[in-house]
Amino acid sequence: MDNTKGQVITYKSQLIFPAFHSSCGGSTENSEEVWVAATPYLKGVPCPYCADPEPERQTSYTLAEVDNKLKTNLSAYPLWQVITLIRQ
Ligand SMILES: [Zn+2]
Repeated sequence: MDNTKGQVITYKSQLIFPAFHSSCGGSTENSEEVWVAATPYLKGVPCPYCADPEPERQTSYTLAEVDNKLKTNLSAYPLWQVITLIRQ
């Protein structure tokens, strides 16, 4: 959001409707496919930022980090017990 902070975007001297998305799956839709009205400047376009249609986000933590964040004590147990616990 900081990239557009302070900008005013107009279309035919009117403020635009600044639609935005977190993930579109690779292309946006024409406004009339999503809302009621066809808006000339809201046309479907390919979106390189969301090129992966099924984005997968993954992160890793050590057990000590999990314990610290969740206030648990998983690192005190053998790993097989922790895995069993997580799968339940
Ligand atoms: Zn997108």
